[in-house]
Amino acid sequence: MAINEKSYAYGASKSSIREIFAYGMARKAEIGAENVFDFSLGNPSSPAPDEVRASLARSLELPPVQLHGYTPANGMAPAREAVAHSLTRRFQAECGDAPVASADDIYLTCGAAASLSITFHALVNAGDEVIVIAPYFPEYRVWIETAGATCIKVLADQQTFQVDAEAVRAAITPHTKAIVINSPNNPVGAVYTRKTLNELANVLREREEALGTDIYLVSDEPYREITYGAEVPWNPAIYDRTIVCYSYSKSLSLPGERIGWVLVPPTNPEHDRLVLAVAGAGRKLGFVCAPAIFQRVLMDCVDIPSDVDAYARNREALTAGLTRLGYEYVEPDGAFYLWVKALEPDAEAFFEKAKALDLLPVPSDSFGCPGWVRIGYCVDYETIVNSMPAWEKLAAQYR
Ligand code: PLP
Repeated sequence: MAINEKSYAYGASKSSIREIFAYGMARKAEIGAENVFDFSLGNPSSPAPDEVRASLARSLELPPVQLHGYTPANGMAPAREAVAHSLTRRFQAECGDAPVASADDIYLTCGAAASLSITFHALVNAGDEVIVIAPYFPEYRVWIETAGATCIKVLADQQTFQVDAEAVRAAITPHTKAIVINSPNNPVGAVYTRKTLNELANVLREREEALGTDIYLVSDEPYREITYGAEVPWNPAIYDRTIVCYSYSKSLSLPGERIGWVLVPPTNPEHDRLVLAVAGAGRKLGFVCAPAIFQRVLMDCVDIPSDVDAYARNREALTAGLTRLGYEYVEPDGAFYLWVKALEPDAEAFFEKAKALDLLPVPSDSFGCPGWVRIGYCVDYETIVNSMPAWEKLAAQYR
């Protein structure tokens, strides 16, 4: 009996990030963890804040039937209210008199992966196109295609790695349903400036008007709080047809717990129908009732600031070390990734040489760009410092 060939193909091709991570684990077991410099996965190295543990301890005092019971499909009202109040406190000034969010605009999810899948399923019909900015998070393509749309790649500006609004204009067709942006950005660490976002919004509005279509901006924001001083503007205040996808995987260091949300801002012109389409997509996918204990954590912890000090220190050590060795990279303003130019055009070949030295970055091809590697610096400080001799040996091979 035939099985689903598309699902088979996604399973058989795997994610290169996860494959490298699995290799790193096996290699650590073989030669000792301290001898393998695994920069592959975006697993936060800053611990979750103490308040999360305190919240969990309080939850464990509840009667089990209450604690472990089903919640509403879109999440408990007090948890959604906590998120909405937090967003309102933080972004009301950018929205002027317009409302920022209410509990009913929020759908709690198992992290940004679910938020994005739900959003694409809520938006697209067969034959639609969704634009991604390359280099891009590789799973976008999987989620877009699975929802029935075609993933259209548009290169970022190759100097600044900001969105190239003119390149986006050239890629928009009557089939364009949405564009996904991610700032602070994985994998390059760019934070999109207000100027970039305004230019993009102007292009989207112009093309919508010229083509008589609606184009949605899907803003994927799991790194919003991980910045080194850069402003991260609130996109719904810039472009009204925005949907925000968020996760606490990075901001509260909870990637294994699977908690995040989709926000359909009240200012989105399609708001009422979209809220139902998001709920319907969640239902269709079986993405209902996000983990109840972590919904409760949100009630206590939505406003706890992210601890970025360790990432800032790592970023400093990594960029200083690689600069001394002559590597070229994109100066990161946010997230915890460094986008480094491979020392030969073939990033895979460069990666193989790095791997032979037990250095494990991720080659850029799966992000939709040749010639670079991504170094995830959400690791122990010692890993960065101790990896420098290997980076030096690698560079020496090209001198
Ligand atoms: N979007 C981006 C840009 C990411 O880097 C990640 C995870 O690393 C995700 C989405 C998925 O996040 P989550 O762990 O919340 O599903």
